[in-house]
Amino acid sequence: MKYTYLGLPITPSGSFCLAVNALKDKACRALYAIRRKFWNIDIPIRIWCKIFDCVIQPIAMYGSEIWGPLSEHSYNRWDKHPIETLHAEFCRLILKIQKKTPTNACRAELGRYPLAINIQKRALKFWMHLQTSPTDTLHSEAAKSQALNPEKSHLCQLVLRLTDPHLTHTDISQTSTASKLNVNKIIQNSKDKYLDHWQNETKTQSKLECYRTIKTNYELEEYLFTVRDIKQRQILTKYRLSDHSLALEKGRRRQSWLPREQRICAHCTTGEVETEAHFLLQCDKYSKIREAHFNKFNQVIPGFPDLNTDKLLSILLGQQGQTATLAAKYVSACHRQRDIA
Ligand SMILES: [Zn+2]
Repeated sequence: MKYTYLGLPITPSGSFCLAVNALKDKACRALYAIRRKFWNIDIPIRIWCKIFDCVIQPIAMYGSEIWGPLSEHSYNRWDKHPIETLHAEFCRLILKIQKKTPTNACRAELGRYPLAINIQKRALKFWMHLQTSPTDTLHSEAAKSQALNPEKSHLCQLVLRLTDPHLTHTDISQTSTASKLNVNKIIQNSKDKYLDHWQNETKTQSKLECYRTIKTNYELEEYLFTVRDIKQRQILTKYRLSDHSLALEKGRRRQSWLPREQRICAHCTTGEVETEAHFLLQCDKYSKIREAHFNKFNQVIPGFPDLNTDKLLSILLGQQGQTATLAAKYVSACHRQRDIA
């Protein structure tokens, strides 16, 4: 008998898709219910991340020891997985940025890794549990049946990929070896591989040209909890992640596309491309705001105006903890002058 859903045949992997989408819906409802409940409270970003990890993620990842190994773990394809799209939606929601902002930049701003890595951790622990269960249990029987045909078991294949591709399943499934697997080390290795992928991927994303120069450490950005003014913090995030309307960005949109050299600043007569560096460091329109704020920066960082462009840009975009609040004020003042005044 063939099972169908909305007229489509359900294959074993298809039914997993339906289950994963149902989990996403459930987790999504929980996320928005929490948001509705606390609509009048500004929940700090760290607390939001805790809520996601402790409340939302367990709902979304239910049974991921089983369906997780069936999913595509290459990072480019994983980003389209329903559970990761939920994760990206959450990151955008708490950063208050638009949907078109690249997922890899939103995660990086919060120092978060793709949920595929958490799935790997759960799968490894589950596999170890099966291998080390007493021989008279069903768990042990399940492990034995997988060992008979490891190439057909997605869980075995994932464990092999993560541990040592040179070993066979028999090598690593011996109980003594299974109990010695260092899960934390394997997961750290996965995170390091993701960071390499992130570095290479961002080199190909012209939208993240500015972000690449300021983002030095893959961790939760300090300004997200030191800048108290939510509006100013939100504006700073937007300029860091290129979610703004400078000519450089506007000219990238399909409806108003222009070659990079024609994305000229319309607010001054220099004829320069309106990049983040031009907006924050050179454009005449904001010279008064710049003068006032640069004096304040100079009091905290002596010799501030003589720093090179990359360093200045990094400080002005909140990369340095001690001046993050001042940076948020400066960027917000320029933004108001440009887009509102
Ligand atoms: Zn200008």
